[in-house]
Amino acid sequence: MRSRDFVGGLVAVVPDVTLSRWLDAGRDGYDKKGKLSERDPLADQFDLVVIGGGPGGYASAFYAASAGMKVALIERDTIGGTCLNRGCIPAKAFLETAAANRHVAHASEFGVKATSAGVDFSVSQARKARIVDGLVKGLSGLTKSKKVSYFLGTGSLEANRIVNIAMADGSVQKVQGSKVILASGSVPRTIKGFPIGGSIMTSDEVLMLSTIPKRIAIIGGGAIGCEFASTFADLGSTVTIIEGAPKILPGLDPDVANVVVKTFAKKQIAIRTGVVVSGQNKQPDGSTQITFTTGDPVVCDVVIMSIGRRPFADELGLKGTAVKVDDRGFVVVDELCRTGEPDVYAIGDLINTPQLAHVAYAEAILAVKHMRGESVVPVMYDRVPWAIYCHPEVAWAGPSEEQARAAGHEVVVAKHQFRANSRAMILGETDGLVKVIAKKNRDGSAGQVLGVHMVGPWVTEQLAGGYLAVNWEASVDEIAEFIMPHPSLSELFGETVLSLTGRSFNA
Ligand code: FAD
Repeated sequence: MRSRDFVGGLVAVVPDVTLSRWLDAGRDGYDKKGKLSERDPLADQFDLVVIGGGPGGYASAFYAASAGMKVALIERDTIGGTCLNRGCIPAKAFLETAAANRHVAHASEFGVKATSAGVDFSVSQARKARIVDGLVKGLSGLTKSKKVSYFLGTGSLEANRIVNIAMADGSVQKVQGSKVILASGSVPRTIKGFPIGGSIMTSDEVLMLSTIPKRIAIIGGGAIGCEFASTFADLGSTVTIIEGAPKILPGLDPDVANVVVKTFAKKQIAIRTGVVVSGQNKQPDGSTQITFTTGDPVVCDVVIMSIGRRPFADELGLKGTAVKVDDRGFVVVDELCRTGEPDVYAIGDLINTPQLAHVAYAEAILAVKHMRGESVVPVMYDRVPWAIYCHPEVAWAGPSEEQARAAGHEVVVAKHQFRANSRAMILGETDGLVKVIAKKNRDGSAGQVLGVHMVGPWVTEQLAGGYLAVNWEASVDEIAEFIMPHPSLSELFGETVLSLTGRSFNA
């Protein structure tokens, strides 16, 4: 495939509508022309029924409605799902509280006389709740303005795309969709011997805290674990990260991960890697002791379980359908998010793709376009943008240097540090770097941009240029022509790419 066949990380695939009609024609529930024939007279009819109102579900519903489809959206709890109510948004709201506290602590460096008298976390909690409520209201308003039929209840799928809804008010309703999208998301994983409750929490409980725990142990040094570590360390807690792998943030480019580890050390976050947790027990003073197969125990007031999330297909029914669930609980789909059941798609955290809200959005668009017979673009999962919002932030698209080499590429790499960037100095946030990995041309020069990896101030907001470069399969020479505003943090990406041309200003 040639480079410009790619559009924003996606590959164009034009479906053969005639072929799919012909395929549909022989199936149960379709007449000879491939039109749906098995309408259930007792079920309300929709073009699309969506189960789950998280990012995947609401994006599907709104996108389909804006394309003129008659849509039912079923949610058992609160619209917005994990991301809005128990994930991305509340976690970032607390990271911002932590940033405010950090700024006060460093205010004297700017000549500002300010001292923190501590953080009233109940105020931070109320602020978070206002942000979440506002966004939930916004989504509820969109269901009305886009004329999406919203059902507050638990949806379960049976044959012929019929969905029974156990409504929150105790009644039962039945709907049928010409198409169905399953988007029931995920829930936190737990481990045996660590019953959730009291001082042992998952992200769900942590995000509802109204006081800041003194000593926190976080089991799991992945993205969510590191975000919590950063938040609570900046809020004054004593934090220990416990990770079974040899390093935290496994999978990250080591140059990037090292910056996080060094900055976490400055925050006095203790990191215990390569350890196996064996249990926990309550101490007479109310604290919790975590034990390991080898090594000293960790004593803390709150344990945060952050060992990933499992897909939540538990309430989906699926009896009488050909939807397959694998042994890890993921609904099995093809590259177009189609399940084994005709006209039933699955998206988001429920399927085995990166558990990110924006990936769920992309899959929602893909599924809706495909069901409408439009030209579709499968998501290229190895090029999606990733963002970790701890301090320092991390963001990347495309392979790390190690991954690019392991994939058989000869590469040319450039790294530039934020400590030489004027805007970073002005902000007082100089930890971090930008690393660009490019394919090596035959003459040894740098060619196509493969990966862009960043760590430092506001890099989650700076990744967009790198994401475009990677997904457009742009060359170093092309990107080096781009003009970045001065003074800006994004100049560092520009300079890193410029240096790959063999010339530079500042390096
Ligand atoms: P969900 O958001 O889990 O939504 C599924 C919905 O389906 C839920 O509301 C659930 O109640 C409902 N449901 C389930 N079963 C049924 C049923 N049978 N009938 C009706 N309704 C049902 N991602 C990012 O991209 N960026 C971040 O910064 C980020 N930060 C995160 C921080 C934390 C602490 C956590 C926990 C997650 C974070 N994520 C982040 C991940 C992100 O939240 C998920 O990838 C995203 O929410 C997945 O969307 P989804 O629609 O697939 O599922």
